[in-house]
Amino acid sequence: MTNKKGKMKISKKKKTTHNFCEFFILTKSDTNATNAKAVCIYCSNKNGGLQAAQLVHSYYITNKAKLCRKHLANCDNFKNAYSKEEVSSILA
Ligand SMILES: [Zn+2]
Repeated sequence: MTNKKGKMKISKKKKTTHNFCEFFILTKSDTNATNAKAVCIYCSNKNGGLQAAQLVHSYYITNKAKLCRKHLANCDNFKNAYSKEEVSSILA
């Protein structure tokens, strides 16, 4: 009999669909079941939080790598949070 003492293994299954995931908060979309809504973390921080930001079209996008990258490339809030070098390496 094995008695496994100690820590429960919490497997963090990272569903990394693309590199830009960490900059967005995924929420369920009412209109599109297959693609989650991705709310820019930086835009939401600057604009009253997730609840508010997910209602504003320019702050959220469909969770697709291309669209996420495009948003970050144009997102001043994101750019302000990182140095130029970091931004370009993230978007590279
Ligand atoms: Zn943004």
